[in-house]
Amino acid sequence: MRRVTETTGCPAPTPALPDHYPHATAFSVVTVGSGNPWPSLERAAACTLVQFRGRYVLVDAGNGAANSMLRGAHGEFPCRDIAAVCFTHFHQDHSTDYFDIVTNRWLTGGGPLTLVGPPRVGALHAFLTDFYRDDLAYRWMREAERGLTGAGMFTDVQVREVAGPDSFELAGLQVTTAELTHTMYDVGYRFEAAGRSVVVSGDTSLDERLVELARGADVLVMDGDERWPGELGHAAPRPEALSPEYRPQGRYGGDFTVRAHCGIEEIADMVARAGVKHLVLTHLRPGPVDEDAVRAVYVAAGFGGRVSFARDGLEIDV
Ligand SMILES: [Zn+2]
Repeated sequence: MRRVTETTGCPAPTPALPDHYPHATAFSVVTVGSGNPWPSLERAAACTLVQFRGRYVLVDAGNGAANSMLRGAHGEFPCRDIAAVCFTHFHQDHSTDYFDIVTNRWLTGGGPLTLVGPPRVGALHAFLTDFYRDDLAYRWMREAERGLTGAGMFTDVQVREVAGPDSFELAGLQVTTAELTHTMYDVGYRFEAAGRSVVVSGDTSLDERLVELARGADVLVMDGDERWPGELGHAAPRPEALSPEYRPQGRYGGDFTVRAHCGIEEIADMVARAGVKHLVLTHLRPGPVDEDAVRAVYVAAGFGGRVSFARDGLEIDV
C-alpha cells in the first residue's frame, strides 16, 4: 500500500499513531478521512476531528469515516466524547457516515449533542431518527437498564443552522464561520482556543473569504482536490439538462455552474497571502500524490509554511 508522509519542514517520517489518538497535545486535529468521493480502501471520505482538552468536534462525516475513526484509535475511539458535529455541506462524501457515528456515540454514553451546519442540518437528523425509529427504540430499551436515555439522539440535540458568517462557542472553542464557494452551499470553520487556531475549509473553489477566515491560522485543513499542477478541471454540468425536480433548489441547494475545487496554484496563492503556518491538504483522490511537484508550486507562490498531505488517522498539533 502506498504510504503518504509529511513533507516540508518534516524530515522524519510521519510518526506512528499513539495507542489512542488524539491525546498527544491539548489542541490537535485529526484527518480521520482524507479522501474524496472516489471509492477507496486507502482513504475514507471527508472527516476531520478537532480535539481540545479531550473533547471533540467532528467536522463532516463522509463514507468510511466511522470505521476509520475506530481504526485510527485501535478500536477504542471514545465516540461519547464528541460534543458537536459540524457539517461544511451535504455532499455524500461529507455526510453519509453521520448516522453511524452519532449512533455509536449515543450507545456508548454520549450525552447532549450540538449539531451545526447549513440549513437543513436539523432536518437531516430528524429524518434519520424518524426513519430508523423502531431500530433505535429497540436499542434504547435493550440498554435502558444500563442507563441509556434518549439524550443525544431523540432529546438534547441542539441544532445551529449556519446561514452565513457566524460566531459562537463550542466545546471550549471559539468558532467563526464563513460561506465559501462550492457547487453546494459550503461553510468553512475556524476554531480558536488558547491563542491557537485551526481552520477547516470543506470544499471550495477560489474564495477571498477563505483568505480572511484562514488569516494567520496555525493549521489549515484544506480541500486539496483535485487538480494537480497541469491537470484540467471538470467541465461544469448543465443543470438545465435536468428535469426541474432534480435541479438545485434555492440559495442552499447549490449552483452546478461554479467550480467545485481550487487548482493547486490557487491554494498556494491563498495560503501564502493568508499567512497560514501549516497547510494540511486533504480530500485527496486515490493513487499516488506527486508531493515534489505540489511542493514546488507552493515554493513558487512564496508560501513559507509547512505542507502536509493528509492520510487517514494523521494527527496534527495545533
Ligand atoms: Zn467533498
